[in-house]
Amino acid sequence: MRSVKELESTTEAAATDGRADWTVEDAEELYRVKAWGDSFYFIKEDGHVAVRPLHQQSLSIDIYAVVQDLRQRNVSFPALIRFQDVLQARVVRLNKVFIKAIRDSGYRNRYQGVYPIKVNQLHEVVEEVLEAGRPYGMGLESGSKAELVAALPHLEQDGALLICNGYKDEMMLRLILSGQQIGQNVIPVIEKYGEFEHLLRVAQSMSVRPRCGVRVRLGTSGSGKWAESGGDQSKFGISIPELLMLIQRLKETNHTDALVLLHFHLGSQISDIQIVKQAVKEITQVYAQLLKRGVPLQYLDVGGGLGVNYGAGYSGDHDGVNYSLQEYANAVVYSVKEVCDEEQVVHPILISESGRAITAHHSVLIVEALGSYNKDLVDPAFTPPADINPTVRELYEILGRVKDAANRRDTRQLSDLREAFHDAVEKRQEADTLFGLGYLPIEEKALAERLYWSACKAIHERIERLAPESVPTELLALNDHLVDQYLCDFSVFQSILDHWSIGQGFPIMPLRYLNERPDRRAVLVDLTCDSDGKVSHYVSSNSDKRFLEVHDLVGKEPYYFGFFLMGAYQDIMGDSHNLFGRVAEAHVYADAEEPAGYYIEKIIPGTSIQDQLALVQYFPNDLHRRMNNLIRQKIEKGIIRPKAGVELLEQYMECFSQSTYYKPVD
Ligand SMILES: *Cc1c(COP(=O)(O)O)cnc(C)c1O
Repeated sequence: MRSVKELESTTEAAATDGRADWTVEDAEELYRVKAWGDSFYFIKEDGHVAVRPLHQQSLSIDIYAVVQDLRQRNVSFPALIRFQDVLQARVVRLNKVFIKAIRDSGYRNRYQGVYPIKVNQLHEVVEEVLEAGRPYGMGLESGSKAELVAALPHLEQDGALLICNGYKDEMMLRLILSGQQIGQNVIPVIEKYGEFEHLLRVAQSMSVRPRCGVRVRLGTSGSGKWAESGGDQSKFGISIPELLMLIQRLKETNHTDALVLLHFHLGSQISDIQIVKQAVKEITQVYAQLLKRGVPLQYLDVGGGLGVNYGAGYSGDHDGVNYSLQEYANAVVYSVKEVCDEEQVVHPILISESGRAITAHHSVLIVEALGSYNKDLVDPAFTPPADINPTVRELYEILGRVKDAANRRDTRQLSDLREAFHDAVEKRQEADTLFGLGYLPIEEKALAERLYWSACKAIHERIERLAPESVPTELLALNDHLVDQYLCDFSVFQSILDHWSIGQGFPIMPLRYLNERPDRRAVLVDLTCDSDGKVSHYVSSNSDKRFLEVHDLVGKEPYYFGFFLMGAYQDIMGDSHNLFGRVAEAHVYADAEEPAGYYIEKIIPGTSIQDQLALVQYFPNDLHRRMNNLIRQKIEKGIIRPKAGVELLEQYMECFSQSTYYKPVD
């Protein structure tokens, strides 16, 4: 461990050299870009974030340039930018790692993935995934009636799979069986034993011989934030005793050939590769045993769960996974092969339902900082007037004591700082009490607050240079009180729902100025009136980092943040808290022929106020009538002039077509 002395000298050197010694490599390290950027995102020499969206090509797109372009086209922010090429690149990578694992291991069958559309149902996303996956025979997975209806007409390619999970009613079963009748490779996955009997009845009434799969409830349960989806207690899947009963029924009804697929799903974002291996071996054992009992299974479907690294890339990091794409494919392929070879059964066609791993990287949410709330401090040269209230003077003296202690280097320094902190807390409370009783003018209360925060800041700066294990937790906690708040134009509930609900961390950083040292610390807060409406932890090498390094906003307006890896679940699940609607989005394609290396193929406006209100049953005609009546009454009472009334009504009606987010002045 380094000594306190050494730590002091390094921090001081960094502080005095200021910006000169700050490089974009430092910024990449600070925001951990290499860990989550997956070689797509990087910081350019000019301090702008850029994306290299094409597979194995150097063409890069400056994200800030896209933002300026969108502003010129009057796109309202926050906006989501989809880099469609990144989506394609991820599809290709996923298929290639499986192809490599199959080749390297000598596996004697193929991989045929499906994209679970619940991860991002946007039509363009689904089409892009299918397009990129066509050479690999990639199909789709649906989990509900609406998803089935959306997916069914999209599988034009012969043999591409449509796996239907979720509980299926009669109408869904009919639709699935009709799909099979016309030769589509649609496979319903039985989630509950009763569903199987239902399928047989419907098939009989339609005179078709059904094909189906079953979701097996494994002993292995998932890991990470979604651990509940697998294992004995999971909501889905049939148990091993039920599976045997089902096989018996298949034999009795002469339908043994109907069962072609086994499936399991442990939940999303499995953080530990050992869990994947264990589950895959377990399902393969079931596969082998059934095969030996005459069930002609063809497919083994390992479900979703292939995780993405949102975090800093350390093991044990809550936001990441401990394996790469290739390691995942290897784990699946080698585990299946090992069990099949031991049991001497043929290798099945492998399916994975990887959604997050395909879509997460391709979209970036662009959010503007609207302002900052900083703790007010006193000027370093400040001296109080002679007639100042004694309590306020004492706060001033505490500040002086802290500065003295900071300049000394003895063993009592820490206890002195701690005592000063306790005194400062006490005196601030005293000042508040005096104010409440009317003994302190408001100007002096303001001064007391500034002195208090100045003392806290000075204490904190000092203890930051000491070894953390020797610092009392109450002083470490000062950190949280001293950070700024940056008010940002977005809603946590609409755009990063998983952050609020399960504490998933997402990579966030400024879009430019990254060649300058970010010397402020901030918590990003959103526009909603909810105290949970903020980003409460940030990706860093420290697992519990509750602030983000940012730049001072002065002279840097507009100042944008990029929220990265938004493409899986987030942009599709948003909740309309405070009636903030879907954000605008732009679909961007790389193109080396274009001057900036890209073109915008499509812009989808965000939800307007009118559309958002309609979801909760307020309609323009009715609101117009009510507002009109209200204004007429005011005119009749002489409160406003008719002309002003007409203008007010127009102004009110203009709001309907506007975005639900804050519109900064240009
Ligand atoms: C959600 C879900 C998936 C997708 O999981 P990812 O972890 O996003 O790949 C796949 N299969 C089923 C059954 C699901 O419910």
